[in-house]
Amino acid sequence: MKYIDEFRDQALAKQLATAIEQEAEDGRTYRLMEFCGGHTHAIFRYGVQDLLPANVEFIHGPGCPVCVLPIGRIDNAIELVEQHDVILCTYADLLRVPASQRKSLLKAKAAGCDIRMVYSTQDALKIARDNPEREVVFFAIGFETTTPPTAVAILQAQTEQLDNFTTFCNHVLTPSAMQAILDAPEPVAIDGFLGPSHVSTIIGSQAYEVFAQNYLKPIVIAGFEPLDVMQSALMLIRQLNTNRHTVENEYTRAVTREGNTKAQGLMAQVFCLRDEFEWRGLGLIPKSALKLKNEYAEFDAELRFQLPEIKASDVKGCECPAILRGAKRPIDCKLLGTVCTPENPMGSCMVSSEGACAAYWSYGRLRSQS
Ligand code: SF4
Repeated sequence: MKYIDEFRDQALAKQLATAIEQEAEDGRTYRLMEFCGGHTHAIFRYGVQDLLPANVEFIHGPGCPVCVLPIGRIDNAIELVEQHDVILCTYADLLRVPASQRKSLLKAKAAGCDIRMVYSTQDALKIARDNPEREVVFFAIGFETTTPPTAVAILQAQTEQLDNFTTFCNHVLTPSAMQAILDAPEPVAIDGFLGPSHVSTIIGSQAYEVFAQNYLKPIVIAGFEPLDVMQSALMLIRQLNTNRHTVENEYTRAVTREGNTKAQGLMAQVFCLRDEFEWRGLGLIPKSALKLKNEYAEFDAELRFQLPEIKASDVKGCECPAILRGAKRPIDCKLLGTVCTPENPMGSCMVSSEGACAAYWSYGRLRSQS
């Protein structure tokens, strides 16, 4: 299949592995953060780490939207269905994320709450149209990739005067998370970044230029296939070997410097910045998330249902927060594969299809390879 097979070609993978082996300098370590959970899964699914020399190391980043959502926001969603009798529309990954008091949306659904799994914002709008007597809330999460469809849904609801439709907005911003990682009081040693694929189709490669300039970190926007990841690692190594720190784009088949300006316009039309937002693992980050503009307040579930701010702690022993900062790996968690499995997840990183712990579980990396 075009754009798939040629990026999984075994012979080319061997060539790239040889080039990386030759160009990674002895006595030097290359610590490359793959920001996005999709990259983490590509690395493990295709055994990319095993093809690289030991001094080229991938550090898993916070780019999994389900993983970074703090428990308090899941608690809010459960409160919505338990106390306000709404129909809650959510993506499947969120259903099994553990909330406070051993609750989850799946358990709430089993207890009779009206929680419906949707594949798109359009599904949620249809549920609202079909149930005019019920309040329908769309649990909106994700980075810049999933934000434009939420904006479209809100505009559509406004046009159709769907007054029973609201969104519980949890959209977050990639550059803010990158900044938080670089500005952390005890920053993780990172030599360069593999920039996200899908997010970058929206925000463009220019969004990362500030980090290359101000923090002297090379960044390569990388596609999701194994050869994309290997080629991007090689591009980062070449920048590091020559003391360069620029933004390069390996994923030229989808990403431009400007990004998708129409999608950016939709986001700017409907959303504005929150003063701050809590991220699992990264804590409170200023200007890192979006809320609905005043013009669209009638579609804001937080306002309509007066949702409180809930502070909640992670499950004892769960290392998700440190994993999301890149400070630990899933194999550093004692619960991995013992107490915590996909059937019985203790943290979000085991639930989400983009979570690092789910990648280790799925591809059998339950012990240290060193
Ligand atoms: S293995 Fe489970 S408990 Fe451990 S960090 Fe991952 S999600 Fe948390």
